[in-house]
Amino acid sequence: MKILVTGGAGLIGSNLCKRLLDHGDQVICLDNFSTSRRENVEPLLKREGFKLVEHDVTQVYNFLEVDQIYNLACPASPVHYQKTPVETVRTCVQGAINALELAKKLNIPVLQASTSEVYGDPEVHPQPETYTGNVNQIGPRACYDEGKRCAETLFFDYHREWGVKIKVVRIFNTYGPNNAPDDGRVVSNFILQALRGESITMQGDGSKTRAFCYVDDLVEGLIKMMNSTEIGPINLGNPGEFTMQELAELIIELTGSKSKIVNEDNRPDDPKIRRPDISLAKEKLGWEPTIALREGLQKTIEYFKPLA
Ligand code: NAD
Repeated sequence: MKILVTGGAGLIGSNLCKRLLDHGDQVICLDNFSTSRRENVEPLLKREGFKLVEHDVTQVYNFLEVDQIYNLACPASPVHYQKTPVETVRTCVQGAINALELAKKLNIPVLQASTSEVYGDPEVHPQPETYTGNVNQIGPRACYDEGKRCAETLFFDYHREWGVKIKVVRIFNTYGPNNAPDDGRVVSNFILQALRGESITMQGDGSKTRAFCYVDDLVEGLIKMMNSTEIGPINLGNPGEFTMQELAELIIELTGSKSKIVNEDNRPDDPKIRRPDISLAKEKLGWEPTIALREGLQKTIEYFKPLA
């Protein structure tokens, strides 16, 4: 098959492109490199069946002929998406419209990388797909949260109005090789600080929780969703929940670092707890993560060692 991956140079996208090429598919990676490094896809450029198109998803790209679309293009870390918030909304919304228009024209499936952030600071724990969320629509995170919520709305409206074959997944914190070193996400931050022997900067008292999914598991879930009959939304994530203190201590242990943990103020609207309810993914896709945090962190630490 010929598969389009928007945002294909990013953390999840580059690992997805590689997995699809390994499977024998042809892959078009469309990216503007706004939050990723060209190095992520450089090894793929040598492979047969891989094509890189440098393009912004807010501009139409209906000149492409493909069989499936994974719409992943969007800044994903708060540091990136809050730097240019209006552009973030545009990427979420206009990017969704452009992906949906191509899927409509070609009558092909299109998968939307939505996010656990649509649940905001949740009052329901863990979060099932039926929970409609608690987002502060005027806060500094809203450009991403509300942008992604609107993208979901567009996906379901294109499905209801024109029968477009949609697939919506809500991705929970995912980490692994090809995470941009400067994007301020907690796993890459803590690993780089530990490897450099710097203080580990902990927002708040370390009691906030997250559930971390290794990228290979996540990619497997995306492919299962794309090739299923489901439209979603379906949560994809690892239900193993850890406090930020536990994460920092594990990274210090695995890197053998002498770094100390230093507490800072919490960022506004940062959710206090987060863990996916993945019952639906298990039931409908036969999917659940298989890579434990310790194992995934070891692989990610190896990736970051030369970048520290
Ligand atoms: P990433 O920042 O590593 O990758 C995003 C990619 O999209 C980058 O290569 C970037 O250059 C590209 N991009 C951004 N704006 C673009 C535009 N206007 N036109 C073309 N390309 C553009 O992030 P990621 O972690 O790989 O996330 C991929 C997708 O999954 C995103 O849509 C994100 O919202 C979603 N997601 C990720 C996580 C996570 O924890 N990693 C969680 C929830 C949702």
